[in-house]
Amino acid sequence: MRLDVVTIFPEYLDPLRHALLGKAIEQGRLSVGVHDLRGWATDVHKSVDDSPFGGGPGMVMKPEVWGPALDDVAAGTAAATELESSLPHLARPTHDDVEGVEATPYEGRDVREGEDPSLPLLIVPTPAGKPFAQPDARAWSREEHIVFACGRYEGIDQRVVDDAAHRYRVREVSIGDYVLIGGEVAVLVIAEAVVRLIPGVLGNKRSHEEDSFSDGLLEGPSYTKPREWRGLEVPEVLTSGNHALVDRWHRDQALKRTLERRPELLEGVALDKKDRAYLKELGFEG
Ligand code: SAM
Repeated sequence: MRLDVVTIFPEYLDPLRHALLGKAIEQGRLSVGVHDLRGWATDVHKSVDDSPFGGGPGMVMKPEVWGPALDDVAAGTAAATELESSLPHLARPTHDDVEGVEATPYEGRDVREGEDPSLPLLIVPTPAGKPFAQPDARAWSREEHIVFACGRYEGIDQRVVDDAAHRYRVREVSIGDYVLIGGEVAVLVIAEAVVRLIPGVLGNKRSHEEDSFSDGLLEGPSYTKPREWRGLEVPEVLTSGNHALVDRWHRDQALKRTLERRPELLEGVALDKKDRAYLKELGFEG
């Protein structure tokens, strides 16, 4: 997968070369190019923003700067700083692979009616976007080329986004109902969620199956050694060696936590008889 990020703060993207993403770069599964938007500014001050039409506070990012930048990135002619992996990881063992399971990609791509599937995906983070969620991460993990446009100030002139639809499949997405200062942190969030799902980056598909949202539920609590710590015991069932009981316990804990913290998620979950019986014990009648 190729990621290109256009930003006025290239240093902000440095975390993309660490840990698992750094490992993916080292393995050749991922390459990341970071582009300084000011390289496309044409005035002596390298300005990228101007006051908004119609008045109001703040500044808006200029179309004459963003347009050529996105054209050049789509054409593959834009100068980039290529991120290099921060650490040699290859020699390290991974604990994420589930033995005997192939690293296969997720099914389904995010291609809308009338869109050319060969165009790169352009992701424009904005609090006014569609909420980013795990199904997006799964679909985008199949992409060969994703470009991110990091807004600042009051955001990017809307015509940039509208015009980019000629060269990209454009998605305006939000990472949550709050307002950040810029799009860079949103890019880190989205890139991490997507890249970990590329086959071979974090074990295989089975390694993600128990993660929160994989089956629509939040994941329940996890424990490691020692069995007793500060007077707190690990739940007995986890040390019983009875796999069926352990699986049931995990499922029940996921149901319980989802009911307590995100009850609205239960509406989209396929519940069997045992699930319903357990939820009923907890007072859920849905
Ligand atoms: N005026 C915009 C609004 O109210 O919708 C907010 C602009 S915000 C201060 C500047 C930039 O931060 C945005 O262009 C976007 O790139 C990024 N940003 C802020 N909050 C975000 C969120 N929740 N999700 C994704 N990107 C966000």
